[in-house]
Amino acid sequence: MHIRRNQSLKRYNTFHVDAKAHSFAEVRSVRDIQKLLSDPAARGMRKLVLGGGSNILLTRDFDGLVIRNRVLGLRVTDEAETEVTVRAGAGVGWNELVEWTVRRNYAGLENLVLIPGLVGAAPVQNIGAYGVEMKDTCFGVEAVDLATGEVKQLGPADCRFGYRDSVFKNEWKGRYLITAVSFRLTKLSFPKMIYRFSIDYGDVRAMLEAMRVRTLSLGAVSDAISRIRRSKLPDPKKLGNAGSFFKNPCIPRERFEVLSSIYMKMPRFPQEDGTVKVPAGWLVEQCGWKGKTAGRAGVYQHQALVLINHGGAKGAEILELAENIRRSVREKFGIELSFEVNIF
Ligand code: FAD
Ligand code: NAP
Repeated sequence: MHIRRNQSLKRYNTFHVDAKAHSFAEVRSVRDIQKLLSDPAARGMRKLVLGGGSNILLTRDFDGLVIRNRVLGLRVTDEAETEVTVRAGAGVGWNELVEWTVRRNYAGLENLVLIPGLVGAAPVQNIGAYGVEMKDTCFGVEAVDLATGEVKQLGPADCRFGYRDSVFKNEWKGRYLITAVSFRLTKLSFPKMIYRFSIDYGDVRAMLEAMRVRTLSLGAVSDAISRIRRSKLPDPKKLGNAGSFFKNPCIPRERFEVLSSIYMKMPRFPQEDGTVKVPAGWLVEQCGWKGKTAGRAGVYQHQALVLINHGGAKGAEILELAENIRRSVREKFGIELSFEVNIF
């Protein structure tokens, strides 16, 4: 196993922050991971597992071992009349997986098209978009315990998925390297299959109408969502960013009622648990941050939730901007925003 020293991580994170890793290795199999963990040069070191680097902010050099996951493989592991189980290696591109399932007419992941990153990170924050979360179809997660090298099979309940959240962001933070994820998907090729597409979210239905789609299909829905995403979000290859920097807060209904009597246009999405979700992007925009720059960092002009690196920004500068935004939302609305991006 080749361990590189003093590796720049600039091309391994979508903010394009130039931080360095003390040690760096790429793994392509469970055997590779176990070999790496038993290497004396790796033992006792802090470890950071890296996928596509599209949900991290590096605020300083990492003084431990960065393990870049490249475990591949994509196949059907079980097939019934109406359902299919697909197992993807953690190093497969998330969008590659979605497109592969859409081409085969396997339904369940189509709304999650064009989310950057790799399969292995998807359970970490239970990725979601347009009313669908990965937990809705997740069937199992395979992982290696970074302390012991032991292989673990986890069911969805073990992962304790929540809104952009899971046990991997909390109690088990940094404990496991996820090596594969399985999904249970619906076979739309089954003749009498009735499937509920999720299109009543954001601009999806309007886009399908604009595309003059008459019969819904996985291709049409994923195409509509791809078009919306391309028009709204900055391409990380051109403008460094990590998507939404903040999570949408869910606040108690009573608190929401007080706030909405002052801010009558405050958008609201009532949740099943009685709380009300308020879009963090709206809160940030109301505080005047949309399109603002702060040195080499800034807030994207078309979407206030997205912080950007205009070029050469250090992670600490981006974090300082995020903290300032958080403070002004706290002062104006009394709402505490939490970071969706993982800070290292
Ligand atoms: P990384 O950034 O490499 O890692 C993220 C975290 O997961 C880190 O803590 C890392 O240590 C851990 N991790 C990564 N791989 C593993 C592994 N194999 N085992 C254990 N831990 C691991 N997210 C959404 O939910 N919905 C969206 O619609 C969405 N849109 C986005 C749009 C843009 C333009 C961008 C830049 C980001 C967007 N994101 C979105 C955020 C991001 O793409 C997702 O969170 C994605 O799952 C991160 O994948 P990654 O491989 O890049 O993870
Ligand atoms: P949008 O459609 O402008 O909506 C703004 C916010 O309102 C979203 O954050 C969304 O919450 C919420 N929302 C909209 N319709 C809703 C409904 N019917 N029920 C409940 N909540 C609703 O959002 P956008 O910024 O263009 O993003 C579109 C989708 O892509 C969202 O699901 C968003 O989460 C996802 N996305 C995520 C990231 C990321 O980095 N995490 C980046 C880009 C886009 P939710 O966010 O909870 O869905």
